[in-house]
Amino acid sequence: MKLNRRIFLGSGVAAAASLKAPALLAQGHGKPRVVVIGGGAGGATAARYLTKDSEGALDVTLVEPSRSYFTCFFSNLYLGGFKEIDDLGHTYGTLAAKYGINVVHDWAVDVDRDGKTVTLAGGASLPYDKLILSPGIDFVDGAVGGWSLAAQNAMPHAYKGGSQTELLRAQVDAMPEGGVFAMVAPPNPYRCPPGPYERVSMIAHRLKAANPTAKIIVADPKGKFSKQSLFEEGWANHYPGMIDWVGEDFGGGEVSVDPAAMTVTIDGEETEVHACNVIPAMKAGRIAEMAGVTEGNWAPVNAADMSAKADPDVYVLGDAAQQGDMPKSGFSANSQAKVCANAVRGALTESRVFPAKFSNTCWSLIDANNGVKVGATYEATEEKIAKVDGFISEVGETSDVRRATYEESEGWYAGIVADMFS
Ligand SMILES: Cc1cc2nc3c(=O)[nH]c(=O)nc-3n(C[C@H](O)[C@H](O)[C@H](O)COP(=O)(O)OP(=O)(O)OC[C@H]3O[C@@H](n4cnc5c(N)ncnc54)[C@H](O)[C@@H]3O)c2cc1C
Repeated sequence: MKLNRRIFLGSGVAAAASLKAPALLAQGHGKPRVVVIGGGAGGATAARYLTKDSEGALDVTLVEPSRSYFTCFFSNLYLGGFKEIDDLGHTYGTLAAKYGINVVHDWAVDVDRDGKTVTLAGGASLPYDKLILSPGIDFVDGAVGGWSLAAQNAMPHAYKGGSQTELLRAQVDAMPEGGVFAMVAPPNPYRCPPGPYERVSMIAHRLKAANPTAKIIVADPKGKFSKQSLFEEGWANHYPGMIDWVGEDFGGGEVSVDPAAMTVTIDGEETEVHACNVIPAMKAGRIAEMAGVTEGNWAPVNAADMSAKADPDVYVLGDAAQQGDMPKSGFSANSQAKVCANAVRGALTESRVFPAKFSNTCWSLIDANNGVKVGATYEATEEKIAKVDGFISEVGETSDVRRATYEESEGWYAGIVADMFS
C-alpha cells in the first residue's frame, strides 16, 4: 500500500514536472540551446513560439542584423499610398523583454555544423543544439543582363523590406508626365507569387491619380502568373490602356537593362524608362548556402518538422526552404515556424509533438477596397508539404465581396505581426 502510494505520488510529480519544467535532453551544459538566424516571418515566429510554449526550458537566441523589421507584406500598399512606412516597421523589444529571447543584432557569417556553432560578423561564436535558419532570399547573380546589386539604387528591386520600397515609391512619384515605368518580373519560384502583380496594380493606382498618361510595361519570363484572370480583370476595369504585360510568348524573358542610360531592352527592342523595378531570380538567403544545407538555389527540408535533408539538427523555414507545394509567403513562413517550433521543443524537452498542418492565404489589393485572395491547406507527406485543398476569389465578384476580402487582409496583417512580435 505504502509502495503504491509512493509510486502514485512519484508518477504524479513526474507528470507535473513534464508540464512545468520539461526534461532537458541536451546534456553537458545548462538548458538546450536553440539559435535562430533571421528575425522575419519565419524566424521571429519560431523564436516566439519556442519560448512562449517552453516555460523557460530553452535558451533561445535570435540573430537578426536589423533593429526594425519592415514587412514586405503590405509594402505594395505603401507604394499605392494606402499605408505609411511606419505602419510596416516592427521591433524586437517584446521578444526580449516578455519572452526572454536573447536578441542579437548582428549578421551570422558562418555555420560550423560539425562543431555546432554559428559565427557572427562581430566575431562572437554561438553554440547550438538545434539551429533554425530563416534568412529569406538573396538574388541570383547575373539573372537580369545589365543589373547587379550595385545598380539597385538606379533600378530598385524593392523585394526586401524598408529603404528599397521607399526608394521605388519616390522614383515613381518623380516620373515625368506621361513617363514609362518598367518592371522586370522574376521567374518561378520566388517570394510572394502575386507580389509583382499587386505591385503593378498599386503603382497604376498611384499613377492614375498623379500622372494618368504614364505607362507601365511588365517584362515577364513566365507565360502565366498567380491570380492572372483576377488581375487582368482589375487592370481592364480600373487602369484601361495603362499596363502592357509582355509574357514569355512575346519575348518577356529576353530582357536586359542599362541602369546608367535608364533603358530596358525586351526581345531586342530598347525603351527609355523613367522608373524601373528589377526583380531578379531568387535563391535562399546566403547563410543557408554557407551552412551547406542547400541543393541548387534552395534548402530541401523534411515536411514533418522542417529539418534540413542535409542535417537533422538544422531546420530551414520560409522562403529559403524547398518544401513542396506552399508558396513562398509570410503566411507560409509563419505556419511552418509553428510546426518547426513544436518539433524542436519536442526533440529537446520531450514535450508533445502534434502532426504537421500548414495553411496559407495570399491577399492582393487591385484598387481601393478591391481585394482578392488565393489560399490552401497543406499536410506533411514523406515527400513534401502537399496541398490538401484550396480556394481563390472569382472574376466578377461584387464590390461588397471585394471590400470584405480587403478587410480580411487587414485583420490578417494585424494578426501575423502580433504572432511574430508581441
Ligand atoms: C512586395 C511583396 C509583397 C508581399 N506580400 C505578401 C503578403 O501579402 N502576404 C504574405 O504572406 N507574404 C507576402 N510577401 C512575402 C513575404 O514577405 C516573405 O515570404 C516572408 O517575409 C518570408 O519570411 P522569411 O522568414 O523566409 O524571410 P524574411 O521575412 O525576409 O526574414 C529574413 C530575415 O533574415 C535576416 N537575415 C538574412 N540573412 C541573415 C544572416 N546571415 N544573419 C542574420 N540574419 C539574417 C534578414 O535581415 C531578415 O530580417 C510579400 C513579399 C514582397 C516582396
